[in-house]
Amino acid sequence: MTFDDAIRLKTQLLVNGLTITDEAMATVGHGGLEKVFWVFEMTPVTHHGSGEGTRPLPNDMLLPYDLYVDVRYNPESPFKVHASENAIILLKDNKEVCEVRWPTRPDFYDRKTSSGELMKKVASMRGDCGLRVCFDNACNYFAKSVQCKFCNIVPARQRNRDHVVTIKESGDVFDVVKEAIMDNPVCSHLAMTAGAAKDDGLGNLPQILEKLKPLVKQKNFPIVTAITATRNKEETEYLCGAGISSVAFNLEIWDEKLFSEICPGKASRVGRKRWIESLKEARDLLKPARTLSSFVIGLEPKESVLEGIEYLSSEGIWPIMSPFIPMVETEYEGKQPPGADWLWDVHERATAIIYKNLPEAFCEEIWEGDIGICPSCTTTKLFFDFMRRIAPRENPRRVLSPQSVEAFV
Ligand code: SF4
Repeated sequence: MTFDDAIRLKTQLLVNGLTITDEAMATVGHGGLEKVFWVFEMTPVTHHGSGEGTRPLPNDMLLPYDLYVDVRYNPESPFKVHASENAIILLKDNKEVCEVRWPTRPDFYDRKTSSGELMKKVASMRGDCGLRVCFDNACNYFAKSVQCKFCNIVPARQRNRDHVVTIKESGDVFDVVKEAIMDNPVCSHLAMTAGAAKDDGLGNLPQILEKLKPLVKQKNFPIVTAITATRNKEETEYLCGAGISSVAFNLEIWDEKLFSEICPGKASRVGRKRWIESLKEARDLLKPARTLSSFVIGLEPKESVLEGIEYLSSEGIWPIMSPFIPMVETEYEGKQPPGADWLWDVHERATAIIYKNLPEAFCEEIWEGDIGICPSCTTTKLFFDFMRRIAPRENPRRVLSPQSVEAFV
């Protein structure tokens, strides 16, 4: 399998999902990392594992060339994972494709915070290095029926009450970060996100950032906050000076008309103009290529998203991409996702544009996680894999978790 074959395989798995046998799931949750719906239920079809919870679905899967991919269940998929002797094998149309592995389950998943909350319900792990916190799983746009049409943050929370607590207390976040990044380090960077706050502001993020400050001072781990755009320059200034290394204000859709249609809350409560303005404010305050905006690709024409990528990257803002997935309980459930070839073309052209306009995005520091995410934990996205085609390098292997990708069957 060539490197391009492995990326193509990852693309197909993100779009088509897979099925998985009970035997292949035998060690998930008991050594292998299980899936936690920490923000979205990012799957076209629900699957909560088997054995009445004793065999949960795996979170991520490791492919050849150290490519991590999100595990998405889909009974219609031609891909299937099964156990064969002492290995886990990926099949396509019942023909063997390659051996795959599950990342290691961290010990903190079974620990509790000082308030008695299960740490796994406060923060979860992606790949073998990324700690993720959704500090508020509510989104005010749902209350006003102006939620983004591809999003299921609120129903996902309602459907998976055992997975997360809705509003994370700063003390609980502190305890998990201390455990997972400082005391028994299995993670090396932190990504925090949330739904839109009631007043369109920062919600409980400032309390959390203030609480984390002593830890950041002690060990300078990167933090990204992926939230709605700020209301004003003062808010951007506070955020960028609060110990984070990068921000992501995700515009999602570039075309103005489609943005209003697909993201009515973002368009009416913040507006596209203010959104772009806040990105420029953050760009002026952070290091180069530390201000990001993600596009959901597959919901607008190719030329439109590429126009957005050209514009933002030429402004020093790093546009990243997430392939559209028709998630359960969204307005777009059942909608056709983009094809693998279409996604390939957009990613190939987009990364070439970013390399031309914003070469700082390809630096070593960012590759190692300085934007709060890295190639090993962005398991739902492809952009790092395409960057690797332009600037060849190995994916980071964490010193922190050397056995993280062992097979557990
Ligand atoms: S702002 Fe949009 S994408 Fe973000 S949580 Fe709310 S509805 Fe979902």
